[in-house]
Amino acid sequence: LDYNKVQGWHSPRIVPFEPLVLSPSAMVFHYGQAIFEGLKAYKTNDGRTLLFRPDKNIERLNRSCERMCIPPIAPDLVLEAIVRLVEVERDWIPNKEGTSLYIRPFIIATEPYLGVRPASEYKFMIILSPVGAYYSGRQLVPVKIYVEDEYVRAVPGGVGHVKTSGNYAASLYAQKKAEELGYDQVLWLDGKENKYVEEVGSMNIFFKINGEVYTPKLNGSILSGITRDSVIQLVKDWGVPVHEERISIEDIFNAYKNGELEEVFGTGTAAVISPVGELKWNEHKMLLNNSETGEFSKKLYETITNIQYGKAEDKFGWTKEV
Ligand code: PMP
Repeated sequence: LDYNKVQGWHSPRIVPFEPLVLSPSAMVFHYGQAIFEGLKAYKTNDGRTLLFRPDKNIERLNRSCERMCIPPIAPDLVLEAIVRLVEVERDWIPNKEGTSLYIRPFIIATEPYLGVRPASEYKFMIILSPVGAYYSGRQLVPVKIYVEDEYVRAVPGGVGHVKTSGNYAASLYAQKKAEELGYDQVLWLDGKENKYVEEVGSMNIFFKINGEVYTPKLNGSILSGITRDSVIQLVKDWGVPVHEERISIEDIFNAYKNGELEEVFGTGTAAVISPVGELKWNEHKMLLNNSETGEFSKKLYETITNIQYGKAEDKFGWTKEV
């Protein structure tokens, strides 16, 4: 779809994957007015195709639009676009557990203009790609995480809570540094005191301490992950207390020292659940679960993926057949 001030969002069309023609002065290149989403379509054993909570992605897309001064787009229209494209590409969805069709809706400012202000022309596009299983078999692989206490990804009052490209650009340097030190991902701290835990590169973070679950509360600089929300609902449903609150890295280290830090895991569309085997904070190395996947992380992963692949009862109404 295209947007201009006279026609609003218009001209929906499905075209082959091909290069885009844009003016070199398209505002997105200079001022970063760009947002995106990520969700997946799964094929069930009996041949159905399921989307996982697409309404949540569409809501978040519009929250990103608002913060980035991009005109909102009717949720029904976005859903229809997703459904139509999945129908076209349905045969590409691998029929093997763990595999899926990744769906990437995004909006960019296309107006050619050199001054700084919200653009008046945009393109909304959706690209799709089959993706392999994140883990081979059902064996989850724990990751090593580096707690970043020098660089920040997002600051209070900024754009960390929405899915805009600049957040990821800002994260690259620290991610590269962590990789050079032998770590898989960065755990970001808050952008004010550098003391409170926020999230991982493309995942929210959870801690299981003394039988209860803790995750940083949404504070304006953390992305409101859809997997995060699903995990919170599930854990509450299991009768395990969940605390959404400010959590300092020092508290995590103290829980570790006292032997109370049972499991740490990330949540996101790509991995669903990503167990953490090691957390490195300054000179402290926290080794978790002998670098193996904890039972709680495994149970969450299995419960959510069974719902996504239509193998378990969808008691929360999370899947949408297309
Ligand atoms: N935080 C960030 C910065 C992300 O990019 C993602 C991936 N969208 C997440 C958290 C997890 O969100 P979700 O569960 O919706 O994939």
